[in-house]
Amino acid sequence: MPKLLQTYRQLPSCFYEALNNKIDYDVNPYLFNQALAHKLELDQENKPELINDLLENHYPHIAQAYAGHQFGNFSMLGDGRARLIGEYQSPGEKLYDIQLKGSGRTSFSKRGDGKATLSAMLREYIYSEALAALQIPTTRSLAILSTSEKIYRQTEEEGAILIRIASSHIRVGTFEYAAALQDKEVLTELMDYSIKRHYPHIEMNEKRAYAFLKSVIDSQAKLISEWSSIGFIHGVMNTDNMTISGETIDFGPCAFMNRYDLDTCFSSIDVNGRYAFGSQPSMAKWNLFRLAECLLPFLSTNEETAIKIVEQLLNDFDRRYEQYWLTNMSKKIGFQTTSYDVKILIEELLSLMQQHQLDYHNTFYSLTYQLSCELLQPITIWIERWHKLLKAQDLEYTMAQKIMKQVNPVVIPRNHIVEEAIYHATVKNNQLFLKQLLEDIKSPYAANKSAINYIDVPLGHDDNYQTFCGT
Ligand code: AMP
Ligand code: MG
Repeated sequence: MPKLLQTYRQLPSCFYEALNNKIDYDVNPYLFNQALAHKLELDQENKPELINDLLENHYPHIAQAYAGHQFGNFSMLGDGRARLIGEYQSPGEKLYDIQLKGSGRTSFSKRGDGKATLSAMLREYIYSEALAALQIPTTRSLAILSTSEKIYRQTEEEGAILIRIASSHIRVGTFEYAAALQDKEVLTELMDYSIKRHYPHIEMNEKRAYAFLKSVIDSQAKLISEWSSIGFIHGVMNTDNMTISGETIDFGPCAFMNRYDLDTCFSSIDVNGRYAFGSQPSMAKWNLFRLAECLLPFLSTNEETAIKIVEQLLNDFDRRYEQYWLTNMSKKIGFQTTSYDVKILIEELLSLMQQHQLDYHNTFYSLTYQLSCELLQPITIWIERWHKLLKAQDLEYTMAQKIMKQVNPVVIPRNHIVEEAIYHATVKNNQLFLKQLLEDIKSPYAANKSAINYIDVPLGHDDNYQTFCGT
């Protein structure tokens, strides 16, 4: 049994419900992330033993309480279909939550069945592992267990449990929950715990709440800038789906954008495009305002002063986001450092991509590998200007290419490939496509023989493409 800690349970008991029941599903390992198990040194025991140990309710397990603004509306929530087993101390001393998702009802389940579909857990597994390989902060997927349960959504589906690894599951919504209880002591304990766990360098800071808020703002500005530069759309950025750690969490209706368009939104439930690709930075800022509101009493005894502090901090979100984004985008066109001229060039490129509906990844891929293809026709003049600027900055194309190869992926989980892999795995009982996809996404920058499959996007595929929450 890997040694697990129970530090979250040291928080006041309002933060969780202890679960006394055992998991009574008949489970079978469906997917196991050997590379992750190895990295975390969780592969000391054999696989079935490890899984058995994790399912045993030794401590007991807990369901975490939280709240959240869902599409702008506040609700009290909590783990309605998940349980925290405990925290695993990795070889690097870092603590990781091990959580089971889809593990049955808790007192937070409301009308839900507490279960998860195999197809939804496969989506989470695929996207979290893809982001991890792209070096974007994210929760990880250690395994999927099939439960041999039939569960009912639009149709009858197979049930599954995901074993999820996270730096923690503390969300903006966890702070909203604590603030809603109107007990400053409870909120202080949550903040202290979060600082200790995620931002220990500010533990001794005199203005702890200020430093904490600033740190979370920075982590999120960095994260969202990475989503933007890689073309990732989270799809349901409710405050309960935003972590304090800065990791991507809760992959529901997420997708990668093919055609560049700021309005891209695939989620079937997001009818107004609240969480469209181009709105992600402003929605992240909106969420961080909700976090800041919880912390107002710690920022100043004078409410007006506290609000001014928050406004100033959140204006800083824009500056930080822009800086991170510009640095990432500059690299995508071969500049190690950014400048006003590079910024203009990036903006011009994006505007041409939007105008001509160019494929986001294929554009950067073709520029990186200097392909003379039809796709680049509408940007021929831009390419001349780009080469001129490289020259003016004394940058050899080969140097620029080296930088570009490190940041412009060849393999991303294209929507049609994800759907195909999940369809074959769940409907046809054939894991072949899934296994190939999972193998390919491990090396997003390798232009190997599989790569070609990720470049051809079926014409018009995204026109009516919809993704689902999977709850
Ligand atoms: P999510 O859409 O997964 O971010 O979940 C939002 C909220 O709904 C959380 O409080 C979940 O625990 C809860 N929830 C989602 N699916 C279920 C389900 N099948 N049964 C019970 N609660 C659920
Ligand atoms: Mg969620």
